[in-house]
Amino acid sequence: MSCVPGRCSWAPRGARFALVATNAKEVAVRAAVRGEVQGVGFRDATVTRAREAGVRGWVRNADDGTVRVHAEGPPAAVEELVAFLGEGPRLSRVEGVDVERVKVEGHEQFAVRGVSAGVFVVQEHRATAHHFDLRLEVGGVMRSWAVPKGPSMDPGQKRLAVEVADHGMGHNDFEGRLGTGGVIVWDRGTYEQGGRVPWPEALDRGHAVFVLHGEKLRGGFALQRTREGEKPQWLLIKRRDDEARPGSDVVAEQPRSVTGGQTLDELLG
Ligand code: MN
Repeated sequence: MSCVPGRCSWAPRGARFALVATNAKEVAVRAAVRGEVQGVGFRDATVTRAREAGVRGWVRNADDGTVRVHAEGPPAAVEELVAFLGEGPRLSRVEGVDVERVKVEGHEQFAVRGVSAGVFVVQEHRATAHHFDLRLEVGGVMRSWAVPKGPSMDPGQKRLAVEVADHGMGHNDFEGRLGTGGVIVWDRGTYEQGGRVPWPEALDRGHAVFVLHGEKLRGGFALQRTREGEKPQWLLIKRRDDEARPGSDVVAEQPRSVTGGQTLDELLG
């Protein structure tokens, strides 16, 4: 085991990561688990152990073959989970764990990250007014927001998003004339929950963080409710991450349908 302040690395079944000695009521660590660990069994077992121990945070498979864990809670509980990560469940083979102390983030659950929560679609819609409809699959329907200016990849742009009626999933592929206007499928893909609050409870509470895997929209976004009532108002904001594009205008730069290839103007000809 080798340690520098706040950072340790050790082989399985090695020395314990000394958190119990801290006076803090709550601690947080980020761990990277190396070995044959990316099967779904490892993540499921980690969730079970974390919940049993009273640890909050998340577990996800990383692109480099490791499993990453954010764990926070009472020091003894976090240490117990870290010890579990060093051993792993049956059918996994842990080569080592790198652990780093990080700030407590205020998670309210322990969840698997990096797995789809459903599909999303953004339809550009010309009706009485021109707008973009952002729709997220929740419980078998598409929760929907009308975004007059459309989404942005610039974290500095806060876009008004008016909550509108749920749509059926069958509408997701619709493209064509509608009334005196029309619709194109401007973007689509899958999304995952990204916040500290269970999904979809985060939507009920008016602050939802999610990660989009679309063709145009990528990375973290937040929907923040600013006004309740019959037509709740929200702000749609790009989170600051590697996918953010400050100064960009994705609606102007990429106007074409991701299914038919035409712009809404071309469709309406
Ligand atoms: Mn609409």
